[in-house]
Amino acid sequence: AKRDTGTSYRFYNRELHLTVGRQLALEADLRNALRGNELELYYQPRIDLVTGEVRGVECLLRWNHPEQGLVPPDQFIPAAERSGLIVPIGYWVIEQACERLRALKEHQLDPIIFAVNLSFRQFHDRRMTETIFRIIYNAGIDTSLIELELTESAMMHDPDYAQRCLRELNQLGISFALDDFGTGFSSLSNLQHLPISLVKIDKSFVQRLGEAGDAEHIIRAIISLSHSLNMGVVAEGGETREQIRFLRDQHCDEVQGFYFARPMPWRNLIEYLAAHEPQ
Ligand code: C2E
Ligand code: CA
Ligand code: CA
Ligand code: CA
Repeated sequence: AKRDTGTSYRFYNRELHLTVGRQLALEADLRNALRGNELELYYQPRIDLVTGEVRGVECLLRWNHPEQGLVPPDQFIPAAERSGLIVPIGYWVIEQACERLRALKEHQLDPIIFAVNLSFRQFHDRRMTETIFRIIYNAGIDTSLIELELTESAMMHDPDYAQRCLRELNQLGISFALDDFGTGFSSLSNLQHLPISLVKIDKSFVQRLGEAGDAEHIIRAIISLSHSLNMGVVAEGGETREQIRFLRDQHCDEVQGFYFARPMPWRNLIEYLAAHEPQ
């Protein structure tokens, strides 16, 4: 089918103002993107603040658009969620992550955790647990190397089902991280009964460090509460030496931020990991 080129693309960065016609064009383009190998994962390392080692990477989706170039996720994930396309796209992301994990071995690199984002919309798929497990099992990957990141709101639509999914996947060895923590409404103690091993502090708090306001106190509170509940803490968005120093002083476990590394394509990740292997 011929694409509706030109005008519609200019509006991707104004997602919220898309007309129905343009939304449909965007969704059709996304469908083609999934079929035509236009999606790509970038990888952003997470650094252990005590040892300085790479603990894992977060897999972040990019769309290599034939005319637009690299389109960031904020500009197409909402449409993928609205249309339900995020379900097959989400499975593709996990498949790709598993494939890359296997490829680490060929490069003689140590295995590390690959973290993948889960959209609330993926919880509408009643076969989520078995599909995810089948993908990881077929790839022959150790399930403990896959971590799924989800936000508090992802579980809100059907909390019982979401809880069951988390439990089942956790029993198979998959771990969970709570994404964007601090921006939602529930408290960590409400989430205590869920199999979540890691809390990711939203980057908005890290970026407000040093400004007037509560960021320091909020970060301290999140770290101490997470640790008292036996969860690890990753701070997102650390960009400056001062932010890193503060986080290390507060015993934050890991940082994922531009200070250490930006999200990068696969071939750059291979070089990065080779240069940062523990001696
Ligand atoms: P997120 O899950 O919170 O991912 C972290 C975002 O923070 C990434 O943006 C990353 O590039 C950015 N970031 C990391 N460190 C820094 C820093 O030091 N400074 C600044 N300014 N930004 C930093 P990105 O890659 O644009 O992704 C945006 C969002 O898109 C993600 O936020 C996630 O919600 C969503 N997303 C990305 N990939 C996927 C995916 O495969 N599936 C789903 N459902 N959502 C995804
Ligand atoms: Ca994330
Ligand atoms: Ca996040
Ligand atoms: Ca986010």
